[in-house]
Amino acid sequence: MTTPRPLIYAANWKMHHGPGAARGFLTRFLDLTRPVEGRSLWFFPPAVSLAAACEAMVGRNDISVGAQNVHWEPKGAFTGELSLPLVTEVGARLALVGHSERRHLFGETNEQVGRKVAAALKAGVTPLVCVGETLAEREAGRTENVVVRQVDAIVERVPAAEWHRVVIAYEPVWAIGTGKNATPDDAAQVHHLIRFELSRRGVEQRVPILYGGSVNQGNVLGLLAREELDGVLVGGASLDADGWAELVGLGG
Ligand code: PEP
Repeated sequence: MTTPRPLIYAANWKMHHGPGAARGFLTRFLDLTRPVEGRSLWFFPPAVSLAAACEAMVGRNDISVGAQNVHWEPKGAFTGELSLPLVTEVGARLALVGHSERRHLFGETNEQVGRKVAAALKAGVTPLVCVGETLAEREAGRTENVVVRQVDAIVERVPAAEWHRVVIAYEPVWAIGTGKNATPDDAAQVHHLIRFELSRRGVEQRVPILYGGSVNQGNVLGLLAREELDGVLVGGASLDADGWAELVGLGG
């Protein structure tokens, strides 16, 4: 029997599900699912629900919880920010970094993303770093240039030996929350590009690359049929426990 290829299913709840709803979701989700070899289930609840989510999933080694954003400084006068020591204290083991909503709505720069990734690794937290082009950039033929610059900002701060702890999500901005996903071929092409550019920069390890952008029950299998994809990062379709359990179960 062949070992299944490892796949990561990451749920980004954005500004949904307070502690009560997070607990309710995970209780139901745990009832509906069992650990599957090679399958990792990652949840990114809002900050106020991190502790509740971490407590609710105790006993399930296939599930990990992470923060949607972290600051690179371990402490200090940064009102409204969350540090890595604060999120790890409540059990977070992952951090979403550079989500397009952080980049485009809150002005997060490539340089800041690089700092956050380096800080997460230093704190023993796995960063899930998002990269991706806007519609205008894609239409101007700048997808490669934009994505490579985003990746390079991380290469500048993270030594090659540390990259086995980094996970990337390719999320074309025009596909997030729009109902318009990239085709499996489009996604695979950019994943291939990222891998190629990383290996040119001496990053040899097999960095997992997830695809994100309007993934749902109807398109997930087509996307994951491409071996360039190591999983998916999902917003809208991860908000309902039954729907999310069904989606993560489609792959086997
Ligand atoms: C996301 O928030 O990262 C995302 C991909 O959202 P959606 O699945 O709703 O497009």
